[in-house]
Parts: sequence; C-alpha cells; structure tokens
Amino acid sequence: MPATRDYYEVLGVERSADAEEIKRAYRRLAMKYHPDRNPDDKEAEAKFKEAAEAYEVLSDDSKKKIYDQYGHEGLRGRGAAGHDFNRMNVEDIFSMFNDIFSGGGGFGGGGRAQRRGPARGYDLETEVTLDLKDVLNGCTREVEFTRMDVCETCTGSGAKPGTEPETCSACGGQGKVQQAGLGGMFRMVTACPSCRGTGKIIKDKCGSCHGRGRVGKKRKLSVKIPAGIHDGQAVRVQGEGEPPAQEQSASGAGVRGDLHVVVRVKHNDFFERDGDHLLMELPISFTQAALGAEVDVPTLEGKQKLTIKKGTQYGEILRVHDAGLPNLRSGRKGDLVVVVKIETPKKLTSKQEELLRQFAGTEDKHVNPESHGFLKKITDLFGG
Ligand SMILES: [Zn+2]
Ligand SMILES: [Zn+2]
Repeated sequence: MPATRDYYEVLGVERSADAEEIKRAYRRLAMKYHPDRNPDDKEAEAKFKEAAEAYEVLSDDSKKKIYDQYGHEGLRGRGAAGHDFNRMNVEDIFSMFNDIFSGGGGFGGGGRAQRRGPARGYDLETEVTLDLKDVLNGCTREVEFTRMDVCETCTGSGAKPGTEPETCSACGGQGKVQQAGLGGMFRMVTACPSCRGTGKIIKDKCGSCHGRGRVGKKRKLSVKIPAGIHDGQAVRVQGEGEPPAQEQSASGAGVRGDLHVVVRVKHNDFFERDGDHLLMELPISFTQAALGAEVDVPTLEGKQKLTIKKGTQYGEILRVHDAGLPNLRSGRKGDLVVVVKIETPKKLTSKQEELLRQFAGTEDKHVNPESHGFLKKITDLFGG
C-alpha cells in the first residue's frame, strides 16, 4: 500500500480549519482535478481520489477525532477507515458528496448516473481580494475565469462537422458495463472502458475540441460584492458556471452551474476585524493617560477625535460608535474598539528627568538611585 499523505496537507488546510474551510478546500480540489476536466490524466484522477478520502475523514466528526489523535493507523485500527476510493469510480465518489457541490442538482455535468431534477453543469469558483474599505462600502469587481463551454465547431457533439458520434457497441450506449467481481461472487457496474462512460464513440473527432465537445473559454464578469462581507464568504452568481453534460444540453434540458466568488479580506496593519467591530491599539504617553487628552484616532473613513479621560489605565477600552463595519444583513455598523497602550518614554531630557524626580518625591515610592536603599534593606534581611 502506498504511503498515505496527511489529510490536512492533502486538502491544503491548517489543522485548526473549521468544517466550512474543509468543505471549501475539498470542493476546490474536486473541481480542479475532476477527470472530466483532466482527460486521461492519471495523476489528476489520483489527486481527485486522494482529496475525496481526506474529505471523507475530516468532514466526519468522529473520524476526524480519531485521525487527529492517532493518525491513519488509528482509523484502520478502529475499523473507521473509509471507502477505498482507488477502487471506486468517479461518478460514485461524486454522488457521495453531492450535497456540498451547491444546492439543487449537486455537482452537475460530471454525473451521468441517474439523478433527480434537471442536469446541472459544474459550479466554478474564483477568488477576489478586498481590503477593509471595500468591506465598508461594498464594491464591484471584475472577475476573469476560464470555463469549459460547448464547442461551437461541433455544437458540443465532439464529432467533426458533418459526422455524428456513433453508439458505443461495447455498452449499447448505456455508458456502463457489468463486470464479474472476485470469482464471480458479485457483479460490479463500472463506466464502460470503450467509450469512457459516454455511451458514444467518435470516429472523426472535431478539430477544435479534440472530441471533447468542450473548449476552455475565458469569461469576464462584473460582480457586486455587498458591504459587510466576511473573509471566506462567497457571492454566488447563478448560471455562470459550466453548461450541463452534452447529452442534456442538446435536448435543451438542464441548467448551467453557478460561479462562486470567494472573498478574501486583506490583513490591515491598523485594524483587526472582530465580527462587525474593528479593533485597534492606541499608544498614548503616560502623561496623556494621567492628565487626560484629546487625540485623533484613525478610522476607515479618516480621523476621529477621541477623549482620553484623566487616569486612563493600560489596556482600557474606548469605543467609537458606528466607526466599525456594516453588518452584512442589517447594514447596522459596528464600533471601533480602541485598546489603550501606555508608552513609557525611553529617553528623557534633563529637564524632564528633573520634573519627574520631583514628582516621584511626592509619591511614597522608591525610585533609582534611591532604590539602592531598597536593595540594602534586602541585603540586611538575608545577611548577604
Ligand atoms: Zn468540437
Ligand atoms: Zn461504451
């Protein structure tokens, strides 16, 4: 048995990833390595199956727990190992995880297995990166992506214009064949190897798409991103995915998949996001803290005055209402939450030092060099 890679590594997520991140990572890989998009690419198929195996474990709470604690061995030892994906065909792997490939018809075009409802094309995913200002105001982004579209030369049949695909004689056009399993004990239904499950044989291939019936096409779209969106959330653009499998599209039934525009929010040096609130640290001097002050704090929309009260303590929290981000649903704005940091001066002018010594003299506390007295007391106490 080949060495099994770490499941988190396979999906490219941190060990701390939550269910939603794990799901998204799997969906991305399944789309990328789907054999329909990577014809005759054994490596892509292996990666596709590897991702499915990782997802089966990491999406299941109890299996994930065992895996986190004991690794691959733990799963085998506890009989919790999942399906042997290497022995499964791609269609069946799809139907297992159907639910994650967006609502309705599942992953769509790839599945030639019987399904309820109209056939759907693949969903696609692309990413946009926003900064906090875009999140504040909402924005429109141009996205460019490549999708497999119906080949115009052959209108999707894959056959050279003027010719027709023929019905596969090996499977009678069913796309599936039965094979006897171990010693004829049971039978397995697998995709027909002659036509690779399509039920059709193309003798004269279309030159534009090499018989695939699809070609990659670039598409540009303007996508509106609502204010208040969070990192990792996606905007769904209906009907901008890939068309359904050729047999269905020819008959007019079936719908395109969707495009998911996943939003990434850039790190900001000043502000940290906490839901709809923005957090920031505000360094002030110890005199401002002690005496009170009016200071300017940066916000996403400029500056705002903030009053530091007399006797403000380190770590104290001040709020600027409505200077946070709008809530995605209600539009109501969060606050700017200001955490006060008090800075001790590293250098003093002689004038400043003199004033501070005078000040210290009014306190019942020891300061250097007087603290030598303090050290002496300790020495006396322990008889050094
Ligand atoms: Zn073509
Ligand atoms: Zn066949």
